[in-house]
Amino acid sequence: MSAAIRPSACPGLLRIVPALDGGICRIKLAGGAISAAQARAVADAAQHHAGGVIEATNRANLQIRGIGSEHQALIADLLAAGLGPTTAAGDDVRNLMLSPTAGIDRQMIVDTRPLAARILVTLQSHPRFHELSPKFAVQLDGGEALAMLQHPHDLWLSAFEDAGEPWLAFGLAGCPGDPPLASVALADGHALVVAVLELFLDLARPEQTRMRQLLAEHPAQELLARLSARLAGPVISVGDWQRAAPAEALHIGTYPQRENARVYIGAVAPLGRLDPSMLRGAAELAEQWGDGSLRFTPWQSLLLPNLRAEDAPGVTQHLQQLGFLWASDQALAHLIACTGSSGCGKALADTKGDALQLAALLQRHARYLDVHLSGCSRSCAAAHVAPATLLAVGPGRYDLYFRDAAQPGFGSLHARNLSLEAAGALLDARPRSNTDD
Ligand code: SF4
Repeated sequence: MSAAIRPSACPGLLRIVPALDGGICRIKLAGGAISAAQARAVADAAQHHAGGVIEATNRANLQIRGIGSEHQALIADLLAAGLGPTTAAGDDVRNLMLSPTAGIDRQMIVDTRPLAARILVTLQSHPRFHELSPKFAVQLDGGEALAMLQHPHDLWLSAFEDAGEPWLAFGLAGCPGDPPLASVALADGHALVVAVLELFLDLARPEQTRMRQLLAEHPAQELLARLSARLAGPVISVGDWQRAAPAEALHIGTYPQRENARVYIGAVAPLGRLDPSMLRGAAELAEQWGDGSLRFTPWQSLLLPNLRAEDAPGVTQHLQQLGFLWASDQALAHLIACTGSSGCGKALADTKGDALQLAALLQRHARYLDVHLSGCSRSCAAAHVAPATLLAVGPGRYDLYFRDAAQPGFGSLHARNLSLEAAGALLDARPRSNTDD
């Protein structure tokens, strides 16, 4: 398999990249889903061949950190568990994000999983698509109540209904909450994805690896005209339709599913990290009380689907005992932090350790704010702009930004070179409507 693996700084399942704390292996999950048996295999691999740190990523994947010299043994164990790509060169491009409640969500317009499965097969089996950047990513939103609508993707599709028929609105280099470029019938969704990717590869120069770079040279309407010419089915304007933002964050807690008397439980791994016993424990809960599957989410959290409603309180208690955060009034459940100086040579601060301290400060004041701590401006922990960002400037010192649509990057700079206590006080003083999500 190794002959087709290309060089890249991005970790993959077959390409373990070095960091300060050892190698990193990224395991891409189809729609964030993993079986209990596979979760156990990840836990075992992390324990036997690495330092035991497992991370839930903001693309609903998993990664193992701190891998020693046993790269091939770790990779072999993950492949044996069925976690590998269908072709070695396909690993990098299987970047398709679904809503965590795909197929079970109360509000979904379509079950996106069959279309997603087709797209994933095509991405991996079509050699030309292996030329895409490992960061090139597609989002498929079925209209679910639990949906991440803030992470920009090179291509996004979002389901809506017109005269009782399902359609897919789509856009380039943005999020489903943006005004769509146009729409196609659901049945033409696969052809649209293929056409967009082929058009991108036809037009992009080697240094243009992302859709936003192509859009800087080719106006969206020009790309739309070219796409329409390549598709057999109609490409239609959506008028003023726009994907509505979910009313509340539904990734933490217990929520009803589409099917009567079935619920899912969302629980957050503190700062996106699990140890092998947490993952094994969650796998056991999925087998004992659910359908033997788990899903990871772009909130770096875990979802246990298809539970009986009456079992939810007991399962929540087990998750709590395993170390998961289970309620939205836990300040730590709202914080995200990159690897920081314990594992990354670029970090100016120990963001994970500092986030724990900040969470304790915010918890004392019952402030549940979505705050992102970043060790440098690369923003590895967040694919979106958080309502508040603390950007490290030195050990334990941060600049504070508040999200501002009119400003690029993290938003508007509010204060410089703050200690954690000072940052906590400023966040606490923030009017609740501004940063409480
Ligand atoms: S954001 Fe910067 S410091 Fe943090 S993990 Fe990424 S590169 Fe390292």
